[in-house]
Amino acid sequence: MLTRRHFLKVSAALGAIGGFLPARSLLAGVLGGRSRPGADSRRPLVISTWKQGVAANEAAWNVLSGGGSALGAVEAGVMVPEADPEIMSVGYGGLPDEECRVTLDACIMGPDGNAGSVAFVQGYKHPISVARKVMEETDHVMIVGAGAAEFARKHGFPKEELLTEEARKRWLEWKASMSDRDDWLPPEEDHDTIGMVALDGSGDLAGACTTSGLAFKIHGRVGDSPIIGSGMYVDNEVGAAAATGRGEAVIKTCGSFLVVELMRQGLSPQKACKKALERIIKKSGGRPEFQVAYIAVNRDGEIGALSLQKGFQYALGEESGNRLMDSEYLL
Ligand code: ASP
Repeated sequence: MLTRRHFLKVSAALGAIGGFLPARSLLAGVLGGRSRPGADSRRPLVISTWKQGVAANEAAWNVLSGGGSALGAVEAGVMVPEADPEIMSVGYGGLPDEECRVTLDACIMGPDGNAGSVAFVQGYKHPISVARKVMEETDHVMIVGAGAAEFARKHGFPKEELLTEEARKRWLEWKASMSDRDDWLPPEEDHDTIGMVALDGSGDLAGACTTSGLAFKIHGRVGDSPIIGSGMYVDNEVGAAAATGRGEAVIKTCGSFLVVELMRQGLSPQKACKKALERIIKKSGGRPEFQVAYIAVNRDGEIGALSLQKGFQYALGEESGNRLMDSEYLL
């Protein structure tokens, strides 16, 4: 079993070689010719969205490398950006909505097909853990708004102010720049939801997704991230997928469920991500300007990662290291 020390050491070495942004050819060389996304069987492994995925993967790897479950790994993993005020699209420090309130969405799903979710929840830094409680301690899947906050309070989660000074400043700037043509859509760089899928040493899959949603969104708006089958989906017989980007486009195509269903039909994770993104392109009637990206893993440990636009990055953590990768893109 790979130790955490070895994982970090290899990661550091790869980071030093590739500056955590290794070119594919360089990476293939370092890894003995295996390209990514790859086609060889391997586990455990964890994939997550964007650059905050690197630190999240480390926490997930701590669980996986100790023989822990994929479910425990994805929860521990995404809790890292949830608690980090510098990550302004997830949890504490997330950018607020149009009324300057931080409202959070999250969901989690395990290998047994059970799932939990909270949406439009305010005042709780770790919505992923509240979602896990919904999954494990109720017969429900989704609890939203004041009900979700009340549920969190009753389960002993501490209520906290999640709006940081920096996020408030950004909101003020947005407010000052608003015009009657404002469409409530944030600049592209604010797409930074963390979605994570993991395959553990026993071959079980789990996924988690957590976000503060689109910056400066309409108060009450909920995106794809807490919706099972949109922001994330797991079927232990097939694979798991998670999404980031324009949530509305993902919801309208049941994105993560679609990726998993395409894998069930025999497509590789990479091809499944491609087909699901092509569906979005088709439904949007042309060449969408927004970003959507999917990450996916199947039971054999093959992975997929693809986005509509340039710029998406994902973090891949496995025995040989933890790396930030530039995704391929379609448009
Ligand atoms: N998918 C998220 C949402 O629509 C946003 C993102 O990934 O940046 O709420």
